[in-house]
Amino acid sequence: MGDITDITVFPARRIVTMDAAQPTVEAVAVADGRILAAGSLDECRSWGPHRLDERFADLVLVPGMIEAHAHSLEGAFALLPYVGWFDRHNAEGGTTPGIRTYADLLDRLRALDAETAGSSEPIVAGGFDPIYFRDEERLTKEHLDRVSTTRPIFLFHASAHLATVNSAMLELHGIDRDATTPGVARGPDGTPSGELQEMPAMALAGSALAVILRAINDPAAIGTLGQICVNQGITALTDLAAAGLQRPESQELWRRLVERPDYPARVFQRHINAMPPGASTWDEAADALVDLGRDSGDKLRTVGLKVVLDGSIQGFTAKMDWPGYYTGSDHGIWMTDPAQLLDICRPFHERLVNIHVHCNGDLTIDLWIDTVERLLLETAWLDHRHTVQHSQLTKAHHFRRMAKLGMCANIFTNHIWYWGDQHHDITVGPERARRMEPCATAEREGVSFSIHSDANVTPLGHLHTMWCAVNRLTPSGRVLGEGERISAESALRAVTLGSAYQLHLDGELGSIECGKTADFTVLDDDPLEVDPLAIRDIGVWGTVVGGTPFEAKRPTST
Ligand SMILES: [Zn+2]
Repeated sequence: MGDITDITVFPARRIVTMDAAQPTVEAVAVADGRILAAGSLDECRSWGPHRLDERFADLVLVPGMIEAHAHSLEGAFALLPYVGWFDRHNAEGGTTPGIRTYADLLDRLRALDAETAGSSEPIVAGGFDPIYFRDEERLTKEHLDRVSTTRPIFLFHASAHLATVNSAMLELHGIDRDATTPGVARGPDGTPSGELQEMPAMALAGSALAVILRAINDPAAIGTLGQICVNQGITALTDLAAAGLQRPESQELWRRLVERPDYPARVFQRHINAMPPGASTWDEAADALVDLGRDSGDKLRTVGLKVVLDGSIQGFTAKMDWPGYYTGSDHGIWMTDPAQLLDICRPFHERLVNIHVHCNGDLTIDLWIDTVERLLLETAWLDHRHTVQHSQLTKAHHFRRMAKLGMCANIFTNHIWYWGDQHHDITVGPERARRMEPCATAEREGVSFSIHSDANVTPLGHLHTMWCAVNRLTPSGRVLGEGERISAESALRAVTLGSAYQLHLDGELGSIECGKTADFTVLDDDPLEVDPLAIRDIGVWGTVVGGTPFEAKRPTST
């Protein structure tokens, strides 16, 4: 091994490896961006001449946390005005306060209008969540018209599945009573109310989507995304709606920025099922995705396909099985024609492309499991790891089938905090709410799983996501389903090895052992040792990505 020369040894107060053979060690040796050794300090120093880096001597290292379901929009979102209910972290390490009344909402929009007076751009703000304003009438164009009757306004909801726009926006794009696109909500007089449900309807407001799209591909937003990852201890973020198939030109920009040595995170891209330019069949689309994958670098990589089956539960656009929603009216929308799911997935499966399908409502889950079974009968692929994404209402019998078929789950545990009370009281009712985000059932039934934030839908940060899975607390103080709580160790496994496994990257990432990539999350305390209720409050020093340390921006307030 004489050719290994540039060795750095990092001792730490504690290193949690997620390697069952040696759960904790005192030091790790890194060379060439990889883990050369994990063990005692003496063992790590025994590899030969090395640099001893003691910056983590009082800190805790865990395997680099991998967010297996987020969106590149998280970076753009941090740069767009925020009007959500909850306080939210920003790229500077501080927080932006939430909005609690319509009056505050309209005031903030008026202030934005004044700050950007004279601009020809629409006002685009994000994070609004109507379910927190159930005591008020539903927000419509009339409310937003009080901000401006001339400047178009687009209020992107927290779910990312809906938006509310004002009359100026409707007029600009000719969205009127004759609109035939599904998802254009109507008022009592038959004219559009201003609410646009799901992407086909939101896409009618093209001027606003152009602002969002430009923001996603703004180098400043891509940089911000990296900094948010460091602040939250995330070493790899998976974008579940990468647009590389439709817009190859944006790939070039992402590749250039993310592959720079100073970019502090890996970005894994799961491309959305859309026809690439010039293609007319799913076979051609699958070929294009395989080609994109060949261009994968060290940090920016193509990891597979994403298909969206339905909408969101809190937006009442998820497809629910009997007995349907608990209260409210069902706006369930198939985002992909269920009759076409098999035909869409087949050419990708045949090319060994890993497929993750968004299943929120419980009507979607059997369909996706049936489809995987059919794909496997047609074309054997024993190690596909196809995944149920969100998996919010997956039941024990689903997990038993998933375990047999080799499927994974990625469970949206952040919902317990952000919408758990609403699911209990409004959307699915108490019993089903207690079984939502069923991590313990997945574990009991032997399904490999991860947990996720779906950032920007909820804020990026795996300590918070782990905290949700471990405690299942809601803002009202309720424990939502004690039987679905998992241990801190299981939660840490989910955000490290669990994520790596469903990305087919567990040979490289997810634990601290010789030969794996030197990606670490650096914390003030050990999430397996602190009071479970304190997991989300653990300070994040930053990350190590490929052996290079990146320091978080910490809140300046005490
Ligand atoms: Zn998502």
